[in-house]
Amino acid sequence: MSRVFFTNARGLKWDYNHSLAGRLERMLSEVGFLGMFNKKEWVAVKTHFGSEGAHRIIRPVFLRKVVDAVKTAGAVPFVTDTVRIMGLDYLEVANQNGINHLSVGAPVILADGIYGKDSILVKAGELLGEIAVASAIYDAPAMIVCSHIKGHIQAGYAGAIKNLAMGGVSSVHREGGWKKGRGQMHCHGEVPITWDIETCVYCQQCENVCPKEAISFPDEKFSYDMKKCWYCGRCTRVCPSGSLVLPVDDSMFQKTLAESAAAVLSTFKPGKVLYINFMTEIQPECDCMPSCDTPMLQDQGIMMSDDLVAIEQATIDILRKASPLPQSVAEERGCKPGDDVLAMANPRDYNLQVSEAERLGLGSREYEITEID
Ligand code: SF4
Ligand code: SF4
Repeated sequence: MSRVFFTNARGLKWDYNHSLAGRLERMLSEVGFLGMFNKKEWVAVKTHFGSEGAHRIIRPVFLRKVVDAVKTAGAVPFVTDTVRIMGLDYLEVANQNGINHLSVGAPVILADGIYGKDSILVKAGELLGEIAVASAIYDAPAMIVCSHIKGHIQAGYAGAIKNLAMGGVSSVHREGGWKKGRGQMHCHGEVPITWDIETCVYCQQCENVCPKEAISFPDEKFSYDMKKCWYCGRCTRVCPSGSLVLPVDDSMFQKTLAESAAAVLSTFKPGKVLYINFMTEIQPECDCMPSCDTPMLQDQGIMMSDDLVAIEQATIDILRKASPLPQSVAEERGCKPGDDVLAMANPRDYNLQVSEAERLGLGSREYEITEID
């Protein structure tokens, strides 16, 4: 049985120790996981910086608690994420979302450099072959994976596996291009994005969201530059009429997430990675989208474990019991208590990423949960 610790989001006593921040602080100091870090060891605190319009990320106050705990353990933390848009713009996004050295108490750095190309090819499995792991993560001796739990249009569920798989690798590799990066999971095969002239409403949202300026509409005709494209899939996700299609196989996507997570973890010695899942502001889509929707599930709290698969399974099990929220996609889809709100928001077989991660030896779905009150 793997150990998973949980603290509830409810604040039933009006004192700091029972606030969610206070409980996280107590959980970090009481459960003994910080013993995995050596004195003066550099520890990557991996989070997601969000986007200019997607503010529902892990709040800086929680990152600060993690950073402070690492320092108390005698190790040296830095807060990091990989580049999703142009690197300097992404640092500004982090700053606007409240993540900077002053707020979190540690340097905030781009894991794969300001051009998003500082990565090292690491052997993955039979589906991916190899994948470009961000150099600051590749070189870090230890890591705390702080994951904001939410839905995802392609994955159905986005937690620690996805944070590692997508967030631990670069969009492109310096020599290998997009096929060695994140795009390898988003798209299978060298097939361009297709555009349907009949259904396009010329809203230009695809052009606006593209981080690489790969899309334009000269003379009201779709123009797409495959050479610039990162295959991030963002244009297809924002298209209101389904006019853009990026070829993807759903089950292959879930399996490659597990494979990429395994590749990222292979760069660490056993027992050097801690996972913290934040079940707060659980919205239906990824933190990289240009905006965020209202939360679809009530806040549940925070999970912590040294087992990737156990924490993901425990998180999913709690979300299955969480109350769907009114005035959200959950209400629109007619979700009732006990429904699988994640699957009703984005119909995907998200359990596959967890079972695949277990099959690849990344942990166990058998867990024992201990609640920190
Ligand atoms: S997938 Fe779409 S949004 Fe992403 S880089 Fe390519 S064209 Fe741009
Ligand atoms: S987002 Fe879709 S509908 Fe809008 S311009 Fe692009 S292809 Fe057309």
